[in-house]
Amino acid sequence: MDEENRVKELKEKLAYAPKHASYVMDADGVAAADAFCEGYMSFLDEAKTEREAVKKAIELAKSNGFREYARGHFYGPGEKIYYNNRGKSVVLAVMGEVGLSEGARVVAAHIDSPRLDLKPNPLYEDSELAYFKTHYYGGIKKYQWTTIPLAIHGVVVKKDGKTVKVVIGENQDEPVFCISDILPHLAQEQMKEKASDFIKGEDLDVIMGSVSPTSKDENLSKEEKKDLKEKSKKIVLALLKEMYGIEEKDFESAELEIVPAGKARDMGLDRSMILGYGQDDRSCAYASVAAMLEMRAGKRTTCCLCVDKEEIGSVGATGMASNLFENMTAEIIALTDAQYSDLVLRRCLANSKLLSSDVNAAYDPMNAGLYDKENASMLGGGVTFQKYTGSRGKSGASDANPEFIAKVRAAMYDANVSYQMAELGKVDQGGGGTIAYHAAKYGMNVLDGGVAVLSMHAPWEITSKEDISQMYECCKAFLGLN
Ligand code: MN
Ligand code: MN
Repeated sequence: MDEENRVKELKEKLAYAPKHASYVMDADGVAAADAFCEGYMSFLDEAKTEREAVKKAIELAKSNGFREYARGHFYGPGEKIYYNNRGKSVVLAVMGEVGLSEGARVVAAHIDSPRLDLKPNPLYEDSELAYFKTHYYGGIKKYQWTTIPLAIHGVVVKKDGKTVKVVIGENQDEPVFCISDILPHLAQEQMKEKASDFIKGEDLDVIMGSVSPTSKDENLSKEEKKDLKEKSKKIVLALLKEMYGIEEKDFESAELEIVPAGKARDMGLDRSMILGYGQDDRSCAYASVAAMLEMRAGKRTTCCLCVDKEEIGSVGATGMASNLFENMTAEIIALTDAQYSDLVLRRCLANSKLLSSDVNAAYDPMNAGLYDKENASMLGGGVTFQKYTGSRGKSGASDANPEFIAKVRAAMYDANVSYQMAELGKVDQGGGGTIAYHAAKYGMNVLDGGVAVLSMHAPWEITSKEDISQMYECCKAFLGLN
């Protein structure tokens, strides 16, 4: 075979539909898992912010018979509703046959991810380069955000209340943005500094434009052309005005997020993995929403929560620490039970079971010393359950009851879901929390479960297709818990 044909054949092989190894599935199962991951990857591409995730979740819900929650309507068993909270968190529910005081089955994930947010007065010029100032959101390793292509997603709300949606940098024909870094030749001092310090938060400024012969001078007025001061800033402002009708003052009421530009990709020669931005926690959010779409009328009410602000402590009106969940539960009770009372609400919350659907740090052979291998989650090992999260002696953990874990184990066994029990890293190595304890405060049973992620919180995170599809099966089984 000549070289040309060999390369052609190899290309065809690599483009072949991914057939990753599976311990629990037959060929049909693998094909179904791959199809599920295709849907997941397009979700990652279309939902890079919490707003985009809510929009996409509602689109999926509507096309599966869910209707927007409306006061004054009586909801009977089998009815599917969704509640949109400020476009940044969303609740889906399928009404059950028994009264809500018996409790609901809930899967809950977060849809915000680490990123760089624009400051309220972002635009400035230095040495003929225009920059956007940013303030990072969530836990990031700042150096990872330099020298990679970046996109801008978000909204600008004008004084008259009109919302302008912005997405720049995702299509091949659109420009991207970037944060510069020092060349190695001049980095002697930088390389001596601690990794946490060598790129300062204040220095994560994104280059937006430069003055060059190709800059669009035609966007400037005659006076502006004459005045060379802050020319590249003026060009950026003129383009924003032309493209979006945005003035500089409009940044005051904007939520513009800088995220890695580009699509999620198959990873590995065997295509067994996914490289994508925001898989913490949109992997679990997508699996939870997709499972919810499959719910039919059953004994108990089933529910899916997609919440915002987990990465900064679940605070705010769209986060799990707010009364969003409690208020929504009260509303649903009022719509289904004529005898609404505070006691019914409390019983409903206490009798509910919630899967805190969030990711775990996958065991990384390159950093083996950070993990207790027997208690670490393996990429491709199935859903990861965590009895507790927290740090330094389980501090901050909701620590699930073994009676409840046994019920979940049995349900996973019945549904043929592969799973592993794990912690996040070695004892006293660090730690982290989820939304679990915000639900547990109502006195309900809560367990953490999710997908193992390599390079969690990096601009591009790694997951296993096997785990993603198992998470979907896990959410369906959990929602069906007795
Ligand atoms: Mn998370
Ligand atoms: Mn996180």
